[in-house]
Amino acid sequence: MNSGSATILVADDSMVVRAVLRRQLEADGHTVVEAVDGAEALRACREVRPDVVLLDVEMPVLDGHATLERLKADPELRDIPVVFLTGRVDTADVVTGLRLGAHDYLRKPFESNELMARVSAALRTKWLQDELRSRNAELDRVSRIDMLTGLYNRRHLDEHLRRAIAAARRHDREVGVVLADIDHFKLINDHHGHLAGDAVLREVATRLQGTVRTEDALGRWGGEEFIAVLSDTSPEGIAVIAERMRQVIAASPFTLDDGSQIPVTVSIGHTSGSGDAEILVHRADDALYAAKGAGRNRVEAYAAA
Ligand SMILES: [Mg+2]
Repeated sequence: MNSGSATILVADDSMVVRAVLRRQLEADGHTVVEAVDGAEALRACREVRPDVVLLDVEMPVLDGHATLERLKADPELRDIPVVFLTGRVDTADVVTGLRLGAHDYLRKPFESNELMARVSAALRTKWLQDELRSRNAELDRVSRIDMLTGLYNRRHLDEHLRRAIAAARRHDREVGVVLADIDHFKLINDHHGHLAGDAVLREVATRLQGTVRTEDALGRWGGEEFIAVLSDTSPEGIAVIAERMRQVIAASPFTLDDGSQIPVTVSIGHTSGSGDAEILVHRADDALYAAKGAGRNRVEAYAAA
């Protein structure tokens, strides 16, 4: 990866300098995109997303420093390393450039070796940053997934619920919360072992996944409890989905690894609103306990006492 070819933007108002840079960079296997001034350089950055920018300081329309400032102010572009090119002998513009966030600088006239060394260093920085970013994204993804079932975990669902409520409030709508709890789960663990219990949790997750719409979020709330956050649904719509969730579990027995089949059911409580997230979950929980109390394998809507 370190010696791979990159896309390099050369921004310089001098045709001669651009031609020299292009020749040397292309000889090294890179793809070169040219810009004649700062404004064009910014446009090219947005369009081609170069891996490195070689930026002349003295250019018409928008000079190198102003261009650098705008690049660094743009969250989409600020991580592209910039090596600026300066012909001046004093150090003031070097200091300014570095202070504005340039990765490095190169004095004209430059030698080919030095150009390549500085471009390589800038590319290494870029690739390390990209790798770090994708690793962080992966870490973030993993931190939101329940490892046993592959569904979202409580952390993600909690955040999702708060976001969904905020969005619902803006549009004068309500969010549905559905809590489903596996009936007599402790007995399954006691009679068939924890591995069978885990298999049941996974199968419940798989079956429930087919019951919600793409805009809804389904997750494991904890233990043997699952939650669905339904955006933009009427109370009737929520009741329909909740009933579908109950049916899909009760419809056919679960087959364990040893071939034995066991009936599994869930009790479900649901509610809707656009108020406090914790209160919504609390109400769904109240309804869930009502469903348990009324004999399990049932769906109950929250009813204010
Ligand atoms: Mg110039």
